[in-house]
Amino acid sequence: MNRRACKLHFEVAPLKIVRASRQYLFDDQGSEYLDCISNVSHVGHCHPHVVLAGQEQMAQLTTCAGFLDDKMVEYAKRIIETLPDQLCVCYFLNSGSEANDMALRLAKSYTKNDHFIVVENAYHGNIATTLDVSPLKWKKMGTVKKDWVHVVDCPDIYRGKYKEDSENPGALYAADVKKIIKNIQKKHDKGGIAAFISEPVMTAPGVIIPPKKYLQYVYRYVREAGGLCIADEVQVGLGRSGENFWSFQNFDVVPDIITVGKPLGNGYPMALVVTKKEIADSVMEFNSTFGGNPVACAVGMAVLDVIKNEKLMSSAKSVGRCLIDGFKAIAQKHDNIGDVRGMGMCVGVDIVKEKGSRKPAKEVAEILAYKLKEQKIIVANEGPEKNVMLILPPMCFTCDNARCVVQAFDTALTEIELGSSSDGVGVKDEQRISVPLNILTAPPGLLDEDSSDEDGPAAKQAKYEEMD
Ligand code: PMP
Repeated sequence: MNRRACKLHFEVAPLKIVRASRQYLFDDQGSEYLDCISNVSHVGHCHPHVVLAGQEQMAQLTTCAGFLDDKMVEYAKRIIETLPDQLCVCYFLNSGSEANDMALRLAKSYTKNDHFIVVENAYHGNIATTLDVSPLKWKKMGTVKKDWVHVVDCPDIYRGKYKEDSENPGALYAADVKKIIKNIQKKHDKGGIAAFISEPVMTAPGVIIPPKKYLQYVYRYVREAGGLCIADEVQVGLGRSGENFWSFQNFDVVPDIITVGKPLGNGYPMALVVTKKEIADSVMEFNSTFGGNPVACAVGMAVLDVIKNEKLMSSAKSVGRCLIDGFKAIAQKHDNIGDVRGMGMCVGVDIVKEKGSRKPAKEVAEILAYKLKEQKIIVANEGPEKNVMLILPPMCFTCDNARCVVQAFDTALTEIELGSSSDGVGVKDEQRISVPLNILTAPPGLLDEDSSDEDGPAAKQAKYEEMD
């Protein structure tokens, strides 16, 4: 398998998953793993109601692009019911990347402007246009910042420019966005803003929950400059945030365009863009061969049924609480847990060298992921430094699962602190955590990548500003 063409979740001793059910994965050896990361399998892997809906539709009609289609109309209606009235036109696509590409296209055609504002370390997809607005991947993908893309600070009150003790960090971060908008307008002849695109709950930059009012201010400034506001709901939409069906609703804003992907089809590839009528009217034509096919619509409706019937939103809220409370409790005894943050069933545990410095501890985080794997628990490393442990499980995850994960973190971190490893190789006391861990505590090959500070978030931002 070409490692560049197909990135593996565990590059050392990769897993071969052959079957999955609810929140559990099974490998080819018959081992069961607790899946903390498959937000794609939103209502649980292979949920029987969703499987049946797909199977029945597969046997009846799989494609009818260009013909009248009741299933598509019914599904669109059900999605629109969950949204504010203005968001009433759906485009059916096949992936989150495609949805974001369509959102950028809509913004350009409606505003007749070309400039986009994106958040530092954001990720919005793997196709050319969406990579252009995904600073997180620029270095790895060899993408160069385009003139029409402008990067603003991530509103991170833990590690960013304005921290939790600032008077009103939301307003301060937003004021910087306003300055950048002014700069764009000054520097570029045709400096019109087409849109600001962000995840409302910013998973790619490391599960950053924007401070109060940040999005309200930013949306206002962008609109004053003639731009639109795009909310990328690919990761946290469809009830995951617990309180609300859409994550933007937690911040008292209404975007002009929303994009959704991953969770919609519970694994069946499908995506949506929903926007306002006047914005949709600006695009002359749209078609997609597979977008909104009858199987996708049947599956999509079955997913909505399960969210409602199994009360998964309230579960996201209570299980999310269990996770956050549990991690906060063990954070008191582990100097490596710098911060615990999240919303509903989207939780990030920020692994640091020590609490005082808040410096990301990428190596510890990577070893932690492998140690959790040994305990049959799968988590991901997220954020620019890969030091944020991401918990984004299927929504059937339970409080018992949450307790089990917290317990496993506790055990693994204790082992790391004591310098012991599963193969019995220890690290010396002075090598504990504050310095890169003894390579022998990690699976071979794990710590190969260069993690120098030269390309850290602050340095990157300085570079973007120079470029602007
Ligand atoms: N937006 C966000 C926030 C994402 O996390 C992703 C995928 N990880 C995408 C867009 C792209 O979605 P897809 O991989 O389905 O194209």
